[in-house]
Amino acid sequence: MTDEHRVPWVLGTQLHPEVGPLGRAPEGSRVLMIEAHDFARRKPYHHDKLTLVFAAMRQFRDQLRDRGYAVEYIQADTFREGLATYFEAYPEDTLVAMRSPSYRSGPRMAELVGEVGGDLEVVDNELFVSTRQAFDEWANGDTDSFRHETFYRWMRRESGVLLTDDGNPVGGDWNLDEENQEFPPPEWDSPERHEVEHDATVREVSEWVSAEFETWGDDEAFVWPTTREQALDVLDQFCDQRLPEFGPYQDAMRSEDWAMAHALLSPAINLGLLHPWEAITEIEEAYESREDVPLNSAEGVLRQLLGWREFMRHVYRHAMPELASANQLGATKQLPDLYWSSETEMNCLAETVEDVHERGYAHHIQRLMILANFATLWGVEPDQLNDWFHATYVDAYHWVTTPNVVEMGQYGSGVFATKPYVSSASYVDRMSDYCGDCHYYKTKDTGDRACPFNALYWDFLARNEEQLRSNHRMGLMYSHVDTKRENGDLAEIRDRADELRAMAEAGEL
Ligand code: FAD
Ligand code: SF4
Repeated sequence: MTDEHRVPWVLGTQLHPEVGPLGRAPEGSRVLMIEAHDFARRKPYHHDKLTLVFAAMRQFRDQLRDRGYAVEYIQADTFREGLATYFEAYPEDTLVAMRSPSYRSGPRMAELVGEVGGDLEVVDNELFVSTRQAFDEWANGDTDSFRHETFYRWMRRESGVLLTDDGNPVGGDWNLDEENQEFPPPEWDSPERHEVEHDATVREVSEWVSAEFETWGDDEAFVWPTTREQALDVLDQFCDQRLPEFGPYQDAMRSEDWAMAHALLSPAINLGLLHPWEAITEIEEAYESREDVPLNSAEGVLRQLLGWREFMRHVYRHAMPELASANQLGATKQLPDLYWSSETEMNCLAETVEDVHERGYAHHIQRLMILANFATLWGVEPDQLNDWFHATYVDAYHWVTTPNVVEMGQYGSGVFATKPYVSSASYVDRMSDYCGDCHYYKTKDTGDRACPFNALYWDFLARNEEQLRSNHRMGLMYSHVDTKRENGDLAEIRDRADELRAMAEAGEL
């Protein structure tokens, strides 16, 4: 078969012109893209998520055509229908596609192409920094549990990122997490954000999405880059102006400040508009060439991109399919309605859900310590929260939500988390300004207007005592549980937890 009949099939999350089979196909080549719509009818996705995916695909198509590629852009209900249309027109072709990071994507793509009588070659996904083979060599056959910190150090060593000539971490420490936990002073203004200017395609797609699909979320304020050029501008602006402040305030949360100094790059990177290595090199370069970028900022963000993002992808690969339904704490509760309505007197939750409603985004600590924390304390079945994140976030795909939500957020399986990330109001109060304006009292465990996080936190520990008490990282917390039990507070706390559940039922939480 000639090269002319080996045709790149570019998935909607692989929109990078220089990577993979497309990057190697000469200009003028035929390229397949399929815009499938049925998936978008299965859940109430955020309006902005669907707008982002469909607009980015259509703009990428137009850019490739401008560069001379013969793009077959097929709109269909399903991939199967799109593939059938394609092979009817080009029966001689073999499609060459990078596998997506979703579970069993390679075999599933092969099945679909086989069903319509076509040929497919699946190749590695080059839109990550590490390869499957490299990670598996690192894991060395031990694929039951993984530790991020050892993986991250290995990635630093292998890639040379923030490494001295003799192979040590720049500055002496591998991980400056403890320098990422300050709360900004009242006079601090978060750095400017790059305002993306959208063209007619985005506006048309946005209107079409609103008319065509049953979506959730605001359809007015679309802020995300949909082209590679726009994504590069967001990256440049992050490095120029936001990076210096990223480090100290990485874990802080403020009302009316949805972006803080975060990179806001995950939607673009997860679509392939940017390769993570492009972001990593530009950030490292900013640190090396400038005086105003502190190490806790550079290391803080590189740890996420080079460490966590890559780690999550591989852990997902190894821990699926069990990870999706993992529920080692046996949580069975429904996700409270307030995750959809934002109707609650709990200020931290109301503000965070409103942020998500507005833009399909909330930053990491809001995701982990407000949304996932509360769901874990409430006893929500992890799969339900995973589904919610998957529908409502602009950067959400199964490979990245599942390890983040089910494991990091809800301690579903123990495949890499060593304890649940749970807290009472004291953490929320330390890292945010939410509690000051809240209807509830942050210091009260029980009684009128006592903060729900408090009673639910102790109730969670008591409920899961059999599994968690022996965890040496939970020792201190259980000594407090013992004290509360001995002085009779625990019984009252558990009554308060029941009362909170009744309040939620009645829509009064
Ligand atoms: P920054 O905080 O500025 O970080 C820089 C980059 O690092 C991000 O753009 C992202 O590409 C990467 N990154 C950071 N942390 C992680 C992580 N834990 N896993 C993967 N990549 C990471 N990330 C997603 O991309 N999609 C999701 O659907 C998603 N859901 C999450 C759900 C929960 C419960 C939690 C706790 C985390 C989730 N994350 C998810 C990880 C992280 O919160 C987001 O990547 C980050 O908030 C994106 O915003 P940013 O680009 O401003 O990131
Ligand atoms: Fe959230 Fe409780 Fe603080 Fe209110 S008092 S903002 S519910 S942690």
